Amino acid sequence: MRYILALLFCLASLGLAQPRVGTENGLTRLVFSIPNEAIFSLKRQGNEISIRFQGTPPRTLRKLLNTAQVVGYRATPSSGGSIYVVTVRAGTGYRTLELTNPRRLVLEVRSSTAITRSQPRPSAKAPAPVVVLDPGHGGLDPGAVGFVHEEEIVLDVALRTKRLLEARGVRVIMTRSTDRHLSANKATDLGLRAAMADSKRTLFVSIHANAAERAAQGIEVYYFGETIDQRLLSKAILENGGGALGQRLTQEARSVAQRLMRDLLAQANLKFSEQLALKTLRSMVRETGAMSRGVHTAPFYVIRNARIPAILVEIGFVNHPIEGKKLATRAYRSQLANGLAGGIIAFLNSGNAQR
Ligand SMILES: [Zn+2]
Repeated sequence: MRYILALLFCLASLGLAQPRVGTENGLTRLVFSIPNEAIFSLKRQGNEISIRFQGTPPRTLRKLLNTAQVVGYRATPSSGGSIYVVTVRAGTGYRTLELTNPRRLVLEVRSSTAITRSQPRPSAKAPAPVVVLDPGHGGLDPGAVGFVHEEEIVLDVALRTKRLLEARGVRVIMTRSTDRHLSANKATDLGLRAAMADSKRTLFVSIHANAAERAAQGIEVYYFGETIDQRLLSKAILENGGGALGQRLTQEARSVAQRLMRDLLAQANLKFSEQLALKTLRSMVRETGAMSRGVHTAPFYVIRNARIPAILVEIGFVNHPIEGKKLATRAYRSQLANGLAGGIIAFLNSGNAQR
């Protein structure tokens, strides 16, 4: 009887103590449930990432995972809690994220490594982060039209941003680098762009410009999600191809957004996207002095299935009497690119990006 009770106790505590493990192409995620009052600290030494939890029950565990990134983990009791040691494979990087309601710690281990401020590059051969820049529209589709054409200005700003990022050791992939569309069919065009946000890349930025009926101005940054704001929905419909097609793709994107609300791993990625959006907006507003219109979520088709942090930046209003004319100048485009590159670098260095 005592043996059975001990076994039951053991099983019950295992349920609470074992992190949920998920894998997808190029990464392994461990999600730890933690009590609200608990504190934790984390460090990496060689191939071991140790997480010290305080305010949690003492645990003794050992588990083999044998994924492409993680060998396994073990837990041992320590003063006031437990220490989990996750053994990772050589050449992996990691990032962490805290979620609330209920409180969880997400540890994501990826196959490649990126440059960070805190870790000097181990060698010149270390793989660089890969950023996908997506200048919206092009070719058949001019996008918003005012003092400048959206298709032209977003391409110019993207090319300037590319040069700045490459000078900092970041690899850049462009969805287009000339005035062209990827497909005459808008849904296919957006699908081809979206497909470049796969898990082998580090992050994805789609670049657009606004037009408004009234004299609106400023910069706004989006990450993927639902909205009930009619203005944002109308914008999403426009960027999703406009008209009946834009409405259909927006509806599709909204049902993805609803599905993602129940997907913990997708939610974790959206948190990273939010961080990227905040850092990008802050940096762009600082560089340009433009009005900040904030960070929002909206069902943009091009970022609906991104496996990596993904944002859509609206760099200004092409038909505003002052901002529209500024967007036509080289000086202002260069400020926009400085701001955008600065935001991306800040995110890559923040520890939110893969390490
Ligand atoms: Zn656009």
